[in-house]
Amino acid sequence: MDFRLSPEDLALRRDVAAFAAREVPGDWQGGFEYGDEYCGEMWPFTREMAGKLARQGWLGMAWPATYGGTERPVMSQLVYYEEAIYWRIPSFDMGIGGICNVGPLIAAYGTEDQKREHLPELARGAEFWCVGYSEPNSGSDLNSLTTTARRNGDRFVINGEKIWTSAAQIADWCWLLTRTASETKKGHGLTIFVVPMKRPGVAIRPINNMAGHPSFNQVFFDNVEVGEENILGQINGAWGYMPLLLTLERTFAGAGSISRTRRLLDETIDYLHSRGNPTGSRLQTLDSRLQTPDSRLARHRLADLAIEVEAGRLLAYRAAWLKQQGAVCYTEASMVRLYSSQLEQKTAAAVMTLLGPYGQLTWDSPGAKLGGRAERLYRSSISESILGGTTEIQKNIIATRHLGLPGK
Ligand SMILES: Cc1cc2nc3c(=O)[nH]c(=O)nc-3n(C[C@H](O)[C@H](O)[C@H](O)COP(=O)(O)OP(=O)(O)OC[C@H]3O[C@@H](n4cnc5c(N)ncnc54)[C@H](O)[C@@H]3O)c2cc1C
Repeated sequence: MDFRLSPEDLALRRDVAAFAAREVPGDWQGGFEYGDEYCGEMWPFTREMAGKLARQGWLGMAWPATYGGTERPVMSQLVYYEEAIYWRIPSFDMGIGGICNVGPLIAAYGTEDQKREHLPELARGAEFWCVGYSEPNSGSDLNSLTTTARRNGDRFVINGEKIWTSAAQIADWCWLLTRTASETKKGHGLTIFVVPMKRPGVAIRPINNMAGHPSFNQVFFDNVEVGEENILGQINGAWGYMPLLLTLERTFAGAGSISRTRRLLDETIDYLHSRGNPTGSRLQTLDSRLQTPDSRLARHRLADLAIEVEAGRLLAYRAAWLKQQGAVCYTEASMVRLYSSQLEQKTAAAVMTLLGPYGQLTWDSPGAKLGGRAERLYRSSISESILGGTTEIQKNIIATRHLGLPGK
């Protein structure tokens, strides 16, 4: 494998960084936690940024020019994604998954009408998406979900409820997993519908996350009517699309997690430099009240984490590269997701320790170091080992599919 990025991807990385320096104000408070940019007073700026990202041609990289796309390879999409998250650019995914998995799935399996309706709108930053899989009694085991779509002539009537639906409060469309037949055999009887969120019968109740932001929701479907034209691909065919969907979701979410980690690490190192000693030998005197560990230990800890971040990036590149070669990389995507969520949590905890009691101060507290970013990441990173499949689910996949261990 060639570990170097192509000249085009290196240029893309520089372009995204330059875009962020131009367009994202220094006091922007979004992009620290999953989905926070779609909440409250952050939403207007997030929405405005969608059009600007679209004009760069970055939102439609995953699909053909016929549908408003720019047909860039998966590696380029990943480079855009990791840089956008590093620089905390809002709208980079047009809601949750719009760019990294919903769009590509519509391009791969949607009807001609769906491609013409949704892909150009996504590419021009005009359509935001949410993803409705989880239910109050169905998360890891989606096969048990009970939201139904019952046929009534050529229409379908949807009833049920979804939970933890990120960005539903601003989304125009929901990528909704429903039960359309009662088969209990794993994966049978499930259908994905693309559902307009403004349809009568859709009700949304916000849920606050640990950081106090209403970034996810409970979404109720009460006799919501849709047509056959809203089915993605085949009726009862959802399970056939899940491997591609989850591979993309986990690879991209993992790369995002690594990016947030890399940013905190870079900012921590910059902070130490700014205090006058890059080697950390005066770390103990950063502040007389700061309880710092031994400076060599701190140096080594930071070096360990920096190496782990690079390893994490390579894991994500590997999954994307395999996908680009047409290989099935379901397991590799789980490796990225598992590794990245653990690294994000570990790094946030390490930086908190390094900053001593100051690390625990929230961003709006006088005296907070690094703008309270360590505390923020410490809290928000907890959800990283749940969303997109929990740690245990990723381990199960790696154990059974990669190591050949028994499933039960
Ligand atoms: C920040 C955040 C954003 C989210 N956004 C969305 C979204 O936009 N759309 C959406 O649909 N969902 C979303 N989710 C929900 C997420 O996908 C689910 O929480 C996740 O899949 C786990 O499901 P659950 O909460 O029902 O837990 P459960 O599946 O009930 O799991 C509970 C515990 O049991 C363990 N467990 C379950 N099955 C097994 C097994 N077979 N072997 C070993 N251990 C097991 C799990 O690891 C976990 O520790 C989000 C979650 C978070 C935290």
